Amino acid sequence: MSESALDQHECDYRARQLRLGTWIGVGCILIAAVHVQLERYGGPWLVALMVLGGAGQAALAALPWQRYAEARWLPPVMVAWWLANLALLLAFAAYDAAALAVYPAGVTLILVSTAALATERHVIGMGAISIAGYVGLVVAGDRPVTGTLAALCVALMLGVTWFSARTASNRRRLDAARRTAERKVGALLENSSDAVVAIQLDRGVTYASPSVRTVLGYDPAFLTGDLLLDITHPDYLPTGMEWWLAVAEGGPGHTARVESRIRRADGTWVWVEIIGTNRMGEEPLNAAVVSIRDITERKELEEELTRQAFADSLTGMPNRALFRDRLEHAIARNRRGGGRITLLLVDLDDFKLVNDSLGHTAGDQLIATTALRLHQQLRAADTLARLGGDEFAILVEDVTEIEAMDLAERLLAAIRRPLRLGNREVVCSASIGVATAKAGDGDGGPDPGELLRNADLAMYAAKGAGRDRYTLFDPAMYAGILREAEDRAELERALADEQFVIHYQPIVDLPTSRLIGVEALVRWQHPARGLLGPDTFIPLAESTGLIVPLGAWVLRQACEQLARWREEFPDAAAIRVNVNLSPRQFQHEGLVEEVSGILAETGADPHQIVLEITESLLMQDTDSTISTLGRLKALGVRLAIDDFGTGYSSLSYLKRFPVDILKIDRSFVDGITAEGGDATLAEAVVQLGRALQLQTVAEGIETAEQWSTLQDLGCELGQGYLFAKPGAAEAISSILGGDRF
Ligand code: C2E
Ligand code: CA
Ligand code: CA
Repeated sequence: MSESALDQHECDYRARQLRLGTWIGVGCILIAAVHVQLERYGGPWLVALMVLGGAGQAALAALPWQRYAEARWLPPVMVAWWLANLALLLAFAAYDAAALAVYPAGVTLILVSTAALATERHVIGMGAISIAGYVGLVVAGDRPVTGTLAALCVALMLGVTWFSARTASNRRRLDAARRTAERKVGALLENSSDAVVAIQLDRGVTYASPSVRTVLGYDPAFLTGDLLLDITHPDYLPTGMEWWLAVAEGGPGHTARVESRIRRADGTWVWVEIIGTNRMGEEPLNAAVVSIRDITERKELEEELTRQAFADSLTGMPNRALFRDRLEHAIARNRRGGGRITLLLVDLDDFKLVNDSLGHTAGDQLIATTALRLHQQLRAADTLARLGGDEFAILVEDVTEIEAMDLAERLLAAIRRPLRLGNREVVCSASIGVATAKAGDGDGGPDPGELLRNADLAMYAAKGAGRDRYTLFDPAMYAGILREAEDRAELERALADEQFVIHYQPIVDLPTSRLIGVEALVRWQHPARGLLGPDTFIPLAESTGLIVPLGAWVLRQACEQLARWREEFPDAAAIRVNVNLSPRQFQHEGLVEEVSGILAETGADPHQIVLEITESLLMQDTDSTISTLGRLKALGVRLAIDDFGTGYSSLSYLKRFPVDILKIDRSFVDGITAEGGDATLAEAVVQLGRALQLQTVAEGIETAEQWSTLQDLGCELGQGYLFAKPGAAEAISSILGGDRF
């Protein structure tokens, strides 16, 4: 039984006893008064005395004796009362038997009342004295009526005494149970990790448990009135008030919970969980019961976990998850306010290059510096987050499109400023996609995911348009994406259906124009659009990664073709086949295994295979590139640098790579004979090849003049429309068969 239930039970019980006793007493007095009146004994004054005596008894019984039930002086008072009653009894008996009939009423009243107030010992004591009085009267027996009445009274008193004594003992048991429960609750409250206080609507804190001292450090007696408010952190007052209203107005039994910060007695702030239950209608508490628990430890753990989950470890700024959250909130706010949200997605250009060539530390440094520079351009209310890698997102509210564009310009300018990475000074740029949403765009406002996607599309458009710029999102961009997805699917199908063919372009020995090899150049035999050149699909194959299976297919075809030629033309068995490798294929882990597998399966002689790689590949990720190139070389294949001269490779750079052949880019060959052009550049490239002891192949020779100039410069090999355009394998077969170009 809970404490309050016990209280309630006992209060009810005492009230019932007192009422019962009072009514029995009053009833008996009335009966006796009528009796005396009918028998015409005595006079009106006697009736008045009896009524007064009875009323006095009733009044005494109705007094709130329970308050003094434990008081020391209760037994003496009781004894005095019994003696007074005994005197009264004897006085009445001496006067008349009728008066004696009244007396049991008073005694019954007192006994029943006493049972409610005192112990069974008191009841039995009083009953015994009364019974003794009556027994005395019976024994005295000078008047028969009085004697008979007294005997009846003895029987009545015995019954009433027995009943009242039992009631008193019941009550005592109840008292004992209550005290035990109280002690238990007290101990619980003292040792509990919850501080418990009772708060009344008008008086504030009316009770504070002993554990207030352990939990909050305050003396429980000190925590009165509005003190709970006074020790609440100002930031949490509004939620605190909200909580209190919820408890107070929630009605009986309503419970509400809140987390808040409270100042301990020692001045430190602690996190607390406060749970309040409305017991305001319930006497005698009439208050809200509030338990306060220190949850600082849990809260700190929670915060740490949240920080880890929501912050980017490198820059300490919000990460994608938190940004998403903020974006959702901003959208919700704007749905009400009707404002405008602008999202800027910033992506560094060529970050991978920095990371690969200067190392990860430099990459991290670049990210951190970029974060700082972006941050400097923003207002306090704007949100900057790192979404991952070299991608940042910025959320600004309530700016016009012009202002957003202005901000994008400033961000670009900030990133463009040179910065030191290690002992190098580098200049970086970024591409920015800008997307905005107004409240009311679409039903229920814009969708955060969509807004991010829009900004992403705009950012890619900025990259596509040449980087180092920003682009505003335009719904037409979706059409581009859609087309790309379709193209990709089409390309995949083409690969599965083998819609590709390979054309071969001869590579000749310049002095003799003898065919020494061919370059394999892929074409797409498109079912609807006809034969497509590589420029129309290689970029897409690169960006989608489909270049990996496509490149493998080309290599396999070329190797198989080589085997066929070797069989058909034993004289020309030494010709070589050049196959282009795209940078993306180098990122593919299994490249070397794939090449060696194809060589083994087709039986091609590795020495007849030349793999053409681009200069830009050499600029990337040097260590792993060198190792891959080394492993390819170890297979026996030769390596050529394609489009040489268009990149930035320096002499020292080139020396580090195990290449065999330089293919001089067409632009140099063009330059040789162009109007006012000069041969120095081409000459330099040829000489560089010589210095490095590499074979040189001039690409794109279209005129006899170019041919002879290149020979004069000392270039060994050449390739171009002058000799032959790329053509089907049969065209090469006929050359090998003895036909001239
Ligand atoms: P590339 O490797 O530089 O190939 C030479 C390109 O120059 C070929 O274009 C060829 O047709 C063209 N060409 C040859 N002689 C002349 C000439 O005298 N004048 C002019 N104006 N052009 C000449 P094509 O076949 O359109 O190939 C374009 C590019 O596509 C290639 O450039 C190569 O980078 C790429 N490519 C072709 N096939 C493959 C392949 O199987 N894999 C990879 N990864 N890339 C390939
Ligand atoms: Ca090539
Ligand atoms: Ca080339």
